[in-house]
Amino acid sequence: MHFPKPILLFLFLFLIKQGYAQFSLFFENKTLRLDYYHGGNAQNEYFVFDNWKEEPFWGGSTHALIDTLRYGQYFFELIDKESGKVLYSRGYTTLFSEWQTTNEAQSADRIFTESVVMPFPKKPAQINLYSRNRKGVFIQKFSTSFNPADPYIQKADIHYKSFNVHTPADPSQALDIVIIPEGYTSADMELFRQDCKKFADELFSYAPYSEYRDKINIWGIEAPSAESGTDIPVKGIWRNTLLDSRMYTFGIERYLMTSNFKAVRDVAACAPYDQIYILVNTPEYGGGAIFNHYAMSVNSNRSAGKIFIHEFGHSFAGLADEYYNSEVAYNDMYPLDVEPWEPNITTLVDFKRKWKGLIADTIPIPTPNAPQYKHLTGAFEGGGYAAKGIYRPQQDCLMNTFRGNSFCPVCLAAIRRMIEFYTH
Ligand SMILES: [Zn+2]
Repeated sequence: MHFPKPILLFLFLFLIKQGYAQFSLFFENKTLRLDYYHGGNAQNEYFVFDNWKEEPFWGGSTHALIDTLRYGQYFFELIDKESGKVLYSRGYTTLFSEWQTTNEAQSADRIFTESVVMPFPKKPAQINLYSRNRKGVFIQKFSTSFNPADPYIQKADIHYKSFNVHTPADPSQALDIVIIPEGYTSADMELFRQDCKKFADELFSYAPYSEYRDKINIWGIEAPSAESGTDIPVKGIWRNTLLDSRMYTFGIERYLMTSNFKAVRDVAACAPYDQIYILVNTPEYGGGAIFNHYAMSVNSNRSAGKIFIHEFGHSFAGLADEYYNSEVAYNDMYPLDVEPWEPNITTLVDFKRKWKGLIADTIPIPTPNAPQYKHLTGAFEGGGYAAKGIYRPQQDCLMNTFRGNSFCPVCLAAIRRMIEFYTH
């Protein structure tokens, strides 16, 4: 059907209003945070309730409430008690699932602090958490009831001022990225403001982010640390910083992460956000990111721009690392008899669910790592930290090395799909 433009605009506004009306029927325009502990070892895991928190902004979508992509190692649902209807859901991953694949997890237990956020329900609700089993199927592991009249819901303290880095859109229609400073002292705050601008420009210099400038908001938070830099345990360097970040996570020098996730959420709550980006004030080479959890990268290393883009591929679009020849070696992170959920690697177990449709008929699958296939899409062996049995879409991509300046077509499509999910 063909509508003249004013009618289309009217229809569009009507649908947005409808979406918001639906949202405000069930939710307040603020955030509910469920803090919990996630413990276990390589074989077992358990979840324990910690705390409810009410945060002042809802930065997420008011219309894309149900997660249709179902990426991530974990998944949660918010269910209306009265009707039994699923009101909100999201997939995500955490540091715990990576730790489970380390040698330490074979012989020891550990507990991590985790949380999920959702729009604040007006009526009693139930929250279910799911974890994928070895076959990749979500299994319910935890359930708890929420009552908005509960007097023990903790109100978040908003300690820090937020500022606009690039905010062309309404948060309910935009992808909102909050940038948190780590290891910037009060005296470093002007540098942090400049770094936010620098990395926003960097983000918009890469496709496909460059195509969505007017739909992506970027916020910064003025949250100083007592000291500059980050911890480098093996070198005996320890710094008193806001988020307790450190290099050498799981013994990997350049793996820069924090396990103090409550501190991360507390600072992020000072702005509306969908995605958390932590910028670390150090010239070291390092970074890390986990899907729908957070991304972290350094500010002043020579490769900082590309690290920033690469890590956001993980935390925002759920992309896997396409490299395999590095010191990163997890035990059986991707079982070879299961199709991984990440969109840009495959075990060829269920390849049609992935990018099989993007490969020309003349290209053999698997595709040889030969010069004639250099810039073509295929299924090249080696990816996801494994040299054998896992395949990547192109010989090179920003999720593999920093030699080029672009994502492969499969990663490009995955990032576009995710931006559309947040902003359509
Ligand atoms: Zn790629």
